[in-house]
Parts: sequence; C-alpha cells; structure tokens
Amino acid sequence: MRAALLEKNQQPLSFVEDIEVDDPGTGEVLVRVSHCGICHSDLTVVDMPGGTQLPCVLGHEAAGTVEEVGIGVTRLVKGDRVMLTPLPTCGACYYCSRNQPSLCVDGQNFMTGLRADGTSPFSRKGERVYQGFGLGGWGEYSVVDEGRAVKIDDDTPLEIACVVGCAIQTGVGAVLNTAKVEEGATVLVTGLGGIGVSIVQGARLANASRIIVSDPVAERRDYAANFGATDVLDPNEHDIVAKAIELTGGIGVDYAFDGAGHEKLIADCIAATRSGGTTTMVGAALGTLEMPVPAMFLTQEKKLQGCLLGSCNGHRDIPRFLALWRKGALDLESMITHRHPIADINVGLDDMRVSRGLRHVLEF
Ligand SMILES: [Zn+2]
Ligand SMILES: [Zn+2]
Repeated sequence: MRAALLEKNQQPLSFVEDIEVDDPGTGEVLVRVSHCGICHSDLTVVDMPGGTQLPCVLGHEAAGTVEEVGIGVTRLVKGDRVMLTPLPTCGACYYCSRNQPSLCVDGQNFMTGLRADGTSPFSRKGERVYQGFGLGGWGEYSVVDEGRAVKIDDDTPLEIACVVGCAIQTGVGAVLNTAKVEEGATVLVTGLGGIGVSIVQGARLANASRIIVSDPVAERRDYAANFGATDVLDPNEHDIVAKAIELTGGIGVDYAFDGAGHEKLIADCIAATRSGGTTTMVGAALGTLEMPVPAMFLTQEKKLQGCLLGSCNGHRDIPRFLALWRKGALDLESMITHRHPIADINVGLDDMRVSRGLRHVLEF
C-alpha cells in the first residue's frame, strides 16, 4: 500500500508504495482509509528523537470504509463507513468498569499498534513497521481491532468527519467529559491549534459565559473568535493571568485548559484558575515538564488534571459529536483549513511547524 513513513526523527517522511498489510485477524477489520488529519501530536512524535519505535506509519484522525472483516467480528460488515479512534473501549476492564474509557487496557498499545502477540499488521521488505497511535492513518489501509472502528451513517462525508477522531474528541471531550464544565462557567484556553479551537467549541456547547483565549498567532485568534471565544488575547500584548483574573471580576476562571502542552502555559493556566477551580492539561507535552506546584495549591483547593483523548468513549462520543454537527451545534468544516494529497504530507507538516492553519487533512 501507499503510506507516509517515518523512518528517522526530525527528517521529512518518505512517501512509499511497498508496505505489506496483513489480512485482518480474529476480531480485526481491514479499513481502506480515505482521509486522515495531521495532529500536532503526530508532529511531536516526528520531531522528538525516541518519540516512538521506527519505522512507523503515524496518523490518528482517520475515516474510511471497512474492506474486510476477520473471524469473530460482530459490530461491522464489509462496506460500513467508519471513523477510527486511537483508543478502543472494551467495556469490561478495570478502567472501563469505572467509566474511564480512555484508559482502557486495550488502548495501552496506542503508540505502536502492536497486537497482544507482539506482531504488527504492517511490514516492509520483511521488516516490521509500527502502526502509530494504534491506527497508522497515514497509510492507505489500517488493520485494527473492531473496538477502534466506529460505524457512522452512510451519508457522513468522511473528508469532514475525520477531524472528530482526535481534535473534536480531545477538545470537546476535555470540556464535556474530563472537566465537566457547567452552564455559565468561565473558561480560559491557551494555545489555539486544532485542539484549542475544539476546546473553544466545547465551551460554547457547554454554554460557558466567558471563553477567554490566548495565542500569539493572529490568524488563530481570529479562528477562535469565530468558534465562540468571547475575549481574545495576544500573549505578546497582555499578561494572560492578570487579564483573565480581571475579566472574571478578580476571581479567576472556573476552568482553564492548555491546548498546547507548554510548561509556561500550564503554569499560567494554574495561576489564572480561581480557588477551587480546575486546570486541565490537554495539549501533548514534549519531553519532561518541571513545574513547581505552588504551596497555595493546598489552601486554595486548586485542581490540576490530565486528559487523554477528551476522556472519550469513541463508541458513545463519535456518534454524539457527529449528531451535534448535523444539528449545526458543532462546526467541523471551519476546522479544516488545508487539504493535501498523501504524497504531500511534508508540506502539511511544515505548515504545522509554523502554526499555519488549523487542521490539514490528507486525502488518499
Ligand atoms: Zn491528535
Ligand atoms: Zn476496557
């Protein structure tokens, strides 16, 4: 098959046509990928030495059509349209039983996509190729456990729906599932890429009274305003913490979200959150974070929490978010600012490196 292959970190990806793909095994489906977004987490893995095992096909915001089903597959048949989700949900493990589906034990292979027996469905010239984020969406085909493929309506446009896979699940899920923002709450969002503007959309859905956003890139601040931000700040002009506290009557925001994964922004979020409020780390952080925890954390009862894929259960949340899009309550179209044929993936990655656009979608 054709795929964009990561062979070496900090190098352009290779466009190859000779990846071998296994037939789907027991419980697996073979999906022909039609569209896949480029997420900042993919770029992080490309640019971070040791970020994952190589060679690897990345891409985790994919949609396509089921081409073949393995033995024992019960939820899907050939021809079904599906969204792929990086994290499956078994419904029965320790975490699923406690309604923490994004921590499902079946998803713990999500960096390599290796099966329980240690094999990968992808190979090249007899050598193993890893299926990054459990999907390998930058390849023409993906072989996944049926838990990673969510059936969607036949008339869903895959070129638009694909952004639900990561950006929307992560950003909207962070607001509705992880933080559980209540109506009328005040929100701060730092970093306005695909994840950040999805957090803004989530806050708008939650009917937050104030959605304060910050990003140094003017274009991204404009996008966020269109997605429902009420107060748009340029961090080069404003002290974000002071401004967020001022805009909330001296109290601080009820909920802060960092969409970028930067230490300084996470610290700003904590400082801008009111006593008793919650900061949620949503953007994928690069390397180690060394943040001092302020002593006042204790007496102020502040909370800091992580968030993986918006704490989503794809089988519940992907249909839910697509239904909200059909109703006009979620804007997916405006998230997609660029489209590229798969062979031009490096153009998209370079654009992401300079914060150009929101979502770049690859087409096969
Ligand atoms: Zn992602
Ligand atoms: Zn589970």
